[in-house]
Amino acid sequence: MNASVLVINCGSSSIKYALIDEDPQAPRLDGIAERLGSQAAVLKGTDSAGERFSQPLPGADHAQALSAILDRLEGRKPSAVGHRIVHGGEHFTQAALIDDGVIAAIDSTAALAPLHNPANLTGVAATRQVFPSLPQVAVFDTAFHQTLPPRAYRYALPDALYRDHGIRRYGFHGTSHAYVSQRASQLSTHGAGGWLTAHLGNGCSTSAVWQNQSLDTSMGLTPLEGLVMGTRSGDVDPGLHAHLHRQLGWSLDEIDNVLNKQSGLLGLSGLTNDMREIEQAAEQGHAGASLAVEVFCYRIAKSLAGLSCALPTLDGVIFTGGIGENSPQVRRRVIQLMPHFGFALDDATNDATIRGREGALDRADHRGPEVWVIPTDEEARIAMETRHCLETHA
Ligand code: ADP
Repeated sequence: MNASVLVINCGSSSIKYALIDEDPQAPRLDGIAERLGSQAAVLKGTDSAGERFSQPLPGADHAQALSAILDRLEGRKPSAVGHRIVHGGEHFTQAALIDDGVIAAIDSTAALAPLHNPANLTGVAATRQVFPSLPQVAVFDTAFHQTLPPRAYRYALPDALYRDHGIRRYGFHGTSHAYVSQRASQLSTHGAGGWLTAHLGNGCSTSAVWQNQSLDTSMGLTPLEGLVMGTRSGDVDPGLHAHLHRQLGWSLDEIDNVLNKQSGLLGLSGLTNDMREIEQAAEQGHAGASLAVEVFCYRIAKSLAGLSCALPTLDGVIFTGGIGENSPQVRRRVIQLMPHFGFALDDATNDATIRGREGALDRADHRGPEVWVIPTDEEARIAMETRHCLETHA
């Protein structure tokens, strides 16, 4: 049996895809169809020889884009489709084989992810149309964090808001935190103990993982809670909304827009949301960029220190995501801000670890909690969970 899984991550006007074989040596085919529904729609990707392609798809919708993706699979037939679904609410604690009931349940959590879940379901509908005979599996960003205990997921709000409206902390980036913590458990002599994970990309979140189960995480009801991100503020005083409304007359939509799209690294630096550019500007003496790096790193360290309370033992910290994998400076600063934890970062190893390198960054003979860089692979995790889900249904 061919065990390739087609991983689909569908947005309102885009479809990211990856064809992943069970054999890790088999070449991965991946790409993205963008600007769907417009004349500028285009499919870009990489073929099995590593060559990049770009194919205009003027006016294509999601189903037409999926047909074009199918033509790019070089005759390899997927045996299943794994969909990244952002929000599974409390309903989904693991991946689910998609049927009408599962679609209805995903739809019913749309209020919690109004931008993402409907777009994800568009992808499910189009995929069912193009691949009617393939099993489809939903893999949720929130599911890994469904092991959080109530003390970690409840807000100190009136109980009815939780009971009647599902207002609680859910957490996101679950496939990434699950992937890197499991990988570190395999690679480290510490095994599956207590790991702090820091996923630092455009979106950023931390998590405390004990024996492969998430016990706490920095994102909450929405992905806005927690760390400073590219354009998101992360934690602010909850009184800020009322203050901005009363003092500046801002509407809820304006406040939402500022906190999600104009804050974070972009807001602090006044320059950009891109950490590479911020690091360069800071080196050249730009005060806003220096402050952005400082606040970014301090908030990560503070979050990791706080999350350590969830773990019976601390075996190590794992950095991942575009910034976590590529910025030695951010890793060094975060570790320096946690002097009480017994880390021993080797500066030369840290400086040499960028672009896809995986490994521990500790000084030789160090016996305490470790520092790891693990490049995340959310697609591999979605493919793995898809296979596992199908095996349990076989
Ligand atoms: P996404 O969350 O959209 O998947 P990524 O995980 O690719 O994003 O992370 C994007 C971030 O990684 C950007 O802020 C980018 O500047 C940063 N990044 C990528 N390479 C480097 C680098 N060499 N040094 C510092 N930051 C980097």
